[in-house]
Amino acid sequence: MKEIITPKNNLPVSEIRYIFPFMEGDGKNKHLLGGKGANLCEMTQIGLNVPPGFVISTEACLAYLDNKGTELPFGIMETVKKEMNAVEKSTGKLFGNPDNPLLVSVRSGSAMSMPGMMDTILNLGLNEETLQGLIKQTNNERFGYDAYRRFIQLFGKVALGVPDEKFDKEFEIVKHKAGVKVDIGLNASDLKEISEKFLEVVKEHTGKPFPTNVYDQLEIAIKAVFNSWMGKRAVDYRREFNITPQQANGTAVNVVAMVFGNMGNDSATGVAFTRDPGTGENVFFGEYLVNAQGEDVVAGIRTPKPVLELQIEMPDLYKQLEDLRNKLETHYKEVQDFEFTIEKGILYCLQTRNGKMNATGMVRTSVEMAKELLISKKEALLRIKPDLLEQLLHPRLDSLHKSTPLAQGLPASPGAASGACVFDADRAEFLGRGGEKVILVREETKPEDIHGFFASQGILTSRGGKTSHAAVVARGMGKPCVAGAEGIQVDIKLRQAKIGEKVLHEGDYITIDGGTGFVYQGVIPTVDPTFSDELKTLLSWADEMSQLKVFANADTPETAKKALGYGAMGIGLCRTERMFNDSNRLPIVIEMILANTEVERQKALNKLLPIQRQDFKDILLTMAPRPVTIRLLDPPIHEFLPTKEELIEELEHLHQLKSTTNGVNNLYNSLRLLQAEDALGVSPMPFNNKGLELIDKAIEKKELMLKKVHELYEVNPMLGHRGVRLGITYPEIYKMQIQAILEATAECQKVHIDVRPEIMVPQVCSRLELIKVKEFVDEIQQRLEAENGIKLVFKFGTMIEVVRACVDADELAKEVEFFSFGTNDLTQATFSFSREDAENKFLPLYVEKGILEHNPFEVLDVNGVGKLMRMAVDFGRKTKPDLKIGICGEHGGQPDSIAFCHTLGLNYVSCSAPRVPVARLAAAHANLIERKQ
Ligand code: ADP
Ligand code: MG
Ligand code: MG
Repeated sequence: MKEIITPKNNLPVSEIRYIFPFMEGDGKNKHLLGGKGANLCEMTQIGLNVPPGFVISTEACLAYLDNKGTELPFGIMETVKKEMNAVEKSTGKLFGNPDNPLLVSVRSGSAMSMPGMMDTILNLGLNEETLQGLIKQTNNERFGYDAYRRFIQLFGKVALGVPDEKFDKEFEIVKHKAGVKVDIGLNASDLKEISEKFLEVVKEHTGKPFPTNVYDQLEIAIKAVFNSWMGKRAVDYRREFNITPQQANGTAVNVVAMVFGNMGNDSATGVAFTRDPGTGENVFFGEYLVNAQGEDVVAGIRTPKPVLELQIEMPDLYKQLEDLRNKLETHYKEVQDFEFTIEKGILYCLQTRNGKMNATGMVRTSVEMAKELLISKKEALLRIKPDLLEQLLHPRLDSLHKSTPLAQGLPASPGAASGACVFDADRAEFLGRGGEKVILVREETKPEDIHGFFASQGILTSRGGKTSHAAVVARGMGKPCVAGAEGIQVDIKLRQAKIGEKVLHEGDYITIDGGTGFVYQGVIPTVDPTFSDELKTLLSWADEMSQLKVFANADTPETAKKALGYGAMGIGLCRTERMFNDSNRLPIVIEMILANTEVERQKALNKLLPIQRQDFKDILLTMAPRPVTIRLLDPPIHEFLPTKEELIEELEHLHQLKSTTNGVNNLYNSLRLLQAEDALGVSPMPFNNKGLELIDKAIEKKELMLKKVHELYEVNPMLGHRGVRLGITYPEIYKMQIQAILEATAECQKVHIDVRPEIMVPQVCSRLELIKVKEFVDEIQQRLEAENGIKLVFKFGTMIEVVRACVDADELAKEVEFFSFGTNDLTQATFSFSREDAENKFLPLYVEKGILEHNPFEVLDVNGVGKLMRMAVDFGRKTKPDLKIGICGEHGGQPDSIAFCHTLGLNYVSCSAPRVPVARLAAAHANLIERKQ
């Protein structure tokens, strides 16, 4: 067979190199070697104690899968043998040799970390002969059989497709017979019996004996790991987390000499984070088990001990472990999540990767690592994805609640959540899809439960630690998790869980607090989160490093206050119509709408004027000296009236009531004839003449409203009589609003309070519309300035949300001092999609088929809407170079859209108050990334 030629042979590199020993692989090339492989190489090369081994590249995986997953690329097994010889040399053991056997693990690992999604086989190289060698060598029969049964099960499951349950069943039988509760209670002969049973299980399921040739084992295992890349779990995971082939294509295989954490009480295995991933605090965080193999910690089979206890149990090794922790962080300049094993007093590092943290952890570590000068402020900002901050807006349990917890586990992923208990992932998915809030309650979770995580509000397990599967996955998703609540006994068959005497059935509500580990019965109220000092610091750095300012959309003084708390630098959109909807204002608004003459309408407007003035004053004062952009009335006025259907129904009821009342009156009259009226007393409201009068009045009013609804009916209200068109047809409405704004301004500026109102006209398509509204403004301004003897300071501007406005922006700019893009309407207009119809009918399919990359109502459409925006910016600034331009559509809070607004040279983005922190970080990212390029 032809040998693969490696560059080291000094021969021409005419063939692809597929295999890289840890001493040689490029630690930066994760795409080729996978994350695990690249880091194993890097750690080896910086002198950390990694067991010897080699990586078979992702390219080999792709070549194998291309080859219909039957044959490994030509010649690979030859190179594998050569590299195995090297491993034999450095360990002093021999693969397949009965006297001194070498065992290896065959581990998956792609460029993107996909915890638990693909497969790993441990203890490979065991058969009846090598097993005896292992036992003789270690003088530990129990250890030998333990390793053997683990290997048979893992190999059987992963490489030969034997279901776990078949093994578990045999395991439980022996465990029961031996009368032990935990695995470590089993002795050598129990384990021997188990491995014999397991061999039978394999033979029965596959029809063939378990492979004994160690190189056959190795080849089958390599193929199995490659195949796991296309396994359902892994494919689902990539889809859910949008992992593209550019990010990760194929898995590498890592063949690593085995080290054993289960060789006795001087051996151990564990998982650790260089800092606490939940809080971000700079403390060593991890868990370990004495006398156990790695998978035991991850699988949550035994509840592990906190790593700090190692300080007491093995003080010397604890020091070494601390040293490893420091070396990893100093080298990677990032929080590391690593696996270690201690074999007979020697510490090995088996894996490291960047720690997945929740937002709290990311923010705190960013700020602290920058302060420790481990990373720069820029790096501190760039390492956090803006959207992640949204997690910090997760609710916490109201600290005033008086409930006593049902149980306590480990606080494994912070945040609080309530929901109905469900005991398996399929059920969780089913109910979650139906809109039910559920908490997934399991003994422990496995990778195949992943769909249940997506559907749940939170996760509760009765076994496993803070590094168990449940904890890691929940933290990655930012969902609350309580793990290892040992007081809970989950019974999947009965669909219930027992906590002492208490029984929880499927559907019963519970609340979990992933910050404390407490579990409560029922729903406990939650409170909004508060900003940590670290977040404040981080966002202040973000503000220093961005060009864009971040404003909030806020319509009331309360939301304005909230927005300030989130760090809004102004208000980019204050929707005056929201003020109209208040229950004590709506009747006046309706009066205004029903008015048939200008005089009548003016009467209603006069009542609204002081109310709006007070609203504006409150908001302006709250935000002073920051700008407040107030939009004049935008929606079609029939939106303030009930719908036709509602009115017809109400009228029907009123007519019924009227005839009932007439009926009651008839009854009274009849009884009076019978001279029996004394028995009845006085007829109560509304069953008397006064009542009839009121009913008639109500009917009259509702009929008037119905008539108005008919009059105002529009085929397509979004393109109808709204925005500035209302201002032109009913000038008195816009005049009232302008007067309210400028009077509020005058009241403040008269006493030298620096308020900054900006009057914004919606739906403008032509310069002449602006000239018209500007006339109202000028007239009111002049009058107020004369009356108050001051000069009013404010701005006048327009929304840009109509296609024509973009195209004619140079003309519009002549009349205004600012533009604000209303990208919701502009997107509808650009695509000729009405949003509701599009999102309900065809948009999801468009996105699925890739016809559109994103829903353009969520992520700004750069190629279409974006080009119109660019045109408007260019034209606008050609007329007025200092034109202030912002965006107030929903896109103003979406990181990719914010990045685009940055490149357009906008002055600000405006978004809902809780999105402000996300937008501040996104604005900094946009600027930093642009400057880096
Ligand atoms: P995963 O990607 O699911 O974490 P790993 O390949 O890291 O899978 O392996 C699973 C477990 O087996 C881990 O706990 C790991 O530390 C352990 N392990 C892997 N290779 C070895 C080895 N050569 N010696 C000892 N333990 C190992
Ligand atoms: Mg691992
Ligand atoms: Mg609009």
